[in-house]
Amino acid sequence: MSAPVPSERAYVPFVSVDSMMQLIHRIGIEQMLAGIAAYIEEDFRRWELFDKTPRVAAHSKEGVIELMPTSDGITYGFKYVNGHPKNTKEGLQTVTAFGLLADVYTGYPVLLTEMTVLTALRTAATSAVVAKHLAPKGARTMAMIGNGAQSEFQALAMKKICGIDSLRLYDIDPQATAKLLRNLEGQGFSLVVCASAEEAVQGAEIITTCTADKQNATVLNDNMVGAGVHINAIGGDCHGKTELARAILSRADVFVEYPPQTRIEGEIQQMPEDFPVTEIWQVITGQAAGRIDDRQITLFDGVGFATEDFSALRYVRDQLSGTGLYQNLDMLADPDDPRDLFGMVQRAAPAAEETA
Ligand code: NAD
Repeated sequence: MSAPVPSERAYVPFVSVDSMMQLIHRIGIEQMLAGIAAYIEEDFRRWELFDKTPRVAAHSKEGVIELMPTSDGITYGFKYVNGHPKNTKEGLQTVTAFGLLADVYTGYPVLLTEMTVLTALRTAATSAVVAKHLAPKGARTMAMIGNGAQSEFQALAMKKICGIDSLRLYDIDPQATAKLLRNLEGQGFSLVVCASAEEAVQGAEIITTCTADKQNATVLNDNMVGAGVHINAIGGDCHGKTELARAILSRADVFVEYPPQTRIEGEIQQMPEDFPVTEIWQVITGQAAGRIDDRQITLFDGVGFATEDFSALRYVRDQLSGTGLYQNLDMLADPDDPRDLFGMVQRAAPAAEETA
């Protein structure tokens, strides 16, 4: 929208949930997943440029609220995100988020956007970028354990980027699986509903675990994981919340985003502090080996890192021009005389009082 910017205001483009959904429809969901994946991969390639810090987490009995900041020196970004596994029982989302980009030179925000939907896209795009580098070549079947809010996005990204066209589904709640079946019908997958996680992993080259439980759960046992598979473990993303039996970690080669954060939040919180891991950016840039043979178990211990949100925010900002899919938010006071903030307040005409 190109509304004229009145003086004393610096408008910030805001992408609402509705606008984000319209943007997805306009671009196409698989195209958007591929686009975000390309930005994520590009930012992993310039990993060393970024300011990096483990996210700042505020824990409560029910869940966690986190801030995830980063900067490439030109643009700064952060995401606010929660994780409340009990929320779905109350008709609420487990994960909700919003995010912001700012210009490092002025410090002024340049984008504010919903990120609940965008997080599902970026998490799926990250899983697929990693699987592209680590999963067995020619993989076509994925076990999808946990069929909640993230699951369809995970499936579509794995299809678009890695060629997965067969899904084996399991969730402790059959209604979640029924919802996934409805949503992915006619989207080019063969869909098999399984009665257990053990059944779901049969014949799968990629195993995605994306469950939500605020505890150290065992969604996958050691004896369920055969040689040569790639595990995309993304549901355990918080201290005290894991999905895999410890023994799996000892047998697998473990790949992570940012070790200081993953050692607190990932599956490897179960292991000693010096447990060896490979940073995924090093695989992407060719500095470290990824999959080296067809018997190796590769495990992506994905917790979600700030650069992935930054990449998704950059992607959205680059798609907005000419779409009209944003509002100009009046959230930044910017008086013509920068030192006359008080004068600006005085000049503002009082709003007319409401009459009964
Ligand atoms: P959700 O609550 O919508 O879905 C979770 C599903 O897991 C539910 O359907 C639930 O019935 C199922 N489940 C719970 N325990 C299970 C078990 N033992 N076996 C099989 N299914 C089980 O949550 P969501 O938004 O899909 O997120 C899933 C998880 O992924 C959450 O823990 C969330 O915090 C995490 N997450 C991680 C990232 C990341 O970047 N790594 C990003 C987003 C979400």
